[in-house]
Amino acid sequence: MQLGLSNIIGCPGESIDFSVSVDLSDLRYGTSYPVSEPVVAEGTVRNTAGVLVMTGWVRTCLHGVCDRCASDFTREVEIPINVVLVEELSNEDSEDEWVFPLEGDCADLEEIVRTVLVLNMDSKLLCKPDCKGICCRCGKNLNDGPCECRKEPDPRFAALRQLLNQ
Ligand SMILES: [Zn+2]
Ligand SMILES: [Zn+2]
Repeated sequence: MQLGLSNIIGCPGESIDFSVSVDLSDLRYGTSYPVSEPVVAEGTVRNTAGVLVMTGWVRTCLHGVCDRCASDFTREVEIPINVVLVEELSNEDSEDEWVFPLEGDCADLEEIVRTVLVLNMDSKLLCKPDCKGICCRCGKNLNDGPCECRKEPDPRFAALRQLLNQ
């Protein structure tokens, strides 16, 4: 989906609102496709002293299997958009992941939404950012509370304790 910007290009102070729903269900994450629901993006592109600045939000609901605790989860995500649109990418800009080139006088909303989402995904797919995972000894999901396993004493402390006891 292209957002036409001809009305605000060259008109400092002008802005245009956008609202789009993008299908990113083909977005692969490891072995899964967690973006099964439409991704909704809303915001504004404003010509700020000649620079086109896009701000807004990307929202969706991820469905996946947690990499850490292996449970199915549904998690809402809301990511701020804060990008700059340029008519032509300079070498400098192409290293900046928050700068996007225009196509003619249009912004490619799908490409921007996809990039914003991908850049904000954690390297692991987790049911929540602080998932405690499962105990490697008894297999209990530690998000449900601590397990019965006694903590293995750290061998370094054991050696130190031995020294202190002598
Ligand atoms: Zn988890
Ligand atoms: Zn355990």
